Amino acid sequence: MTTLAIRLQFPPNPEIDRLLSSCKAMVMEAVSWALENNKTATHTIVKALYPSFRERFPELHSRWVQKSARTAAAIVHAFRRRKRRGREKRDRPKIGEAWVYVDKSTFRWEWDGTHLTVRITIRPRAHPVVLRFRPHGKYRRLIEAWARGECDFGEPTISRTRLIIPLKFPDLPRYEPRAVCGIDSNERSLDGFESNGAAWTMDTSWAAMKCADHDRRIRRGTRGKQNPKAREKIIRKHSQRRRNRTREFWHGVACTLVWMAMRTGGALVLESLRGMKRRIARSMPRRLRQRLLNHWSIRTFHRILCHKAKVYGVPLLWIDPRGTSKACPVCGGNLRGQVELVCPGCGLKGNRHVLAAWNIARRGQAKLPIGGTGDPEKGMARFRKLQSPKWGQGVVGAPGRPLPVQVWSGQLAGWPPTA
Ligand SMILES: [Zn+2]
Repeated sequence: MTTLAIRLQFPPNPEIDRLLSSCKAMVMEAVSWALENNKTATHTIVKALYPSFRERFPELHSRWVQKSARTAAAIVHAFRRRKRRGREKRDRPKIGEAWVYVDKSTFRWEWDGTHLTVRITIRPRAHPVVLRFRPHGKYRRLIEAWARGECDFGEPTISRTRLIIPLKFPDLPRYEPRAVCGIDSNERSLDGFESNGAAWTMDTSWAAMKCADHDRRIRRGTRGKQNPKAREKIIRKHSQRRRNRTREFWHGVACTLVWMAMRTGGALVLESLRGMKRRIARSMPRRLRQRLLNHWSIRTFHRILCHKAKVYGVPLLWIDPRGTSKACPVCGGNLRGQVELVCPGCGLKGNRHVLAAWNIARRGQAKLPIGGTGDPEKGMARFRKLQSPKWGQGVVGAPGRPLPVQVWSGQLAGWPPTA
């Protein structure tokens, strides 16, 4: 199962506000109870707190009480996970904006081709709250897939102005790759090398530029402001926008790459960059390090690409990145130079990004998986349905508006490698 989520926004609604304030009270109490008693299973929390919650909120549909306990359990789980990984300094989770899971029995949705009508029952034997949406094209395709019965929907969540509905698609089996495409992730570009010897480069500096732009807005907006709450508000606003825009961008790039791989029946090969930022951080001047660490959203991109590849059944291989930019892909010698590299052994010349991508492709080729049962055509069919630019304009880099891909025309003699 892979999940794709629909995020819908609606104007604040008094009934939903009331519901959320009751749910928030329950969630906060359940979180404290779970932490104090060291019990985090949803049904344990429900069992302990259900009677008192029912008494205090008799007007609510009983499902909201259960789902508040479920929300609290999810919050505590996420908090403990962060704590284990050393990413949480607080000793109890911070509960900001109220949100709650919506039970499927209190949730009805209908699709008429342009409008999505959602009915949420808050109180039993009362009219449900009706929310109407006219979703963006990228979501309409997903909703139509649901209407066609190609996917199932998971537990929605609701907050004051946002409704998120996860759609669960069955996984397509991965196909057996006939080729590889090595992808070298650089700060301003992605460089690819395919088994047929074609090399390309894709300019992705837009993401870093937008990150820097939003950082500048944060600095300007908070300049001279002493009130920490006001500062935090500005920072939150711009960070959120920054995250959304870079994610959207990388989604488009990932779609393009997945589509390129399916067209040639290839596998994508990526460097495994786990812990890489930390390694870089040790060996870099401070200014450069800060820029790179804050504006290089490459792990986000890898995560998105990994997810997309899974949805469409495209094989994805991870390789160890050590030495990919130093060794000659033909003879294995040590490359010399800064931007244009030369191999003293065999005389191979080339751009450093292209040679790195070549090395990545080679390592991927060496570990091609055998025994895939899927079919690239099936992935392509799903891709056409979910990504076709029939509606809306599509994001930057999406197949409807692809990023310019420059095909590199350097010396690629020596491919395929004979050694
Ligand atoms: Zn060489």
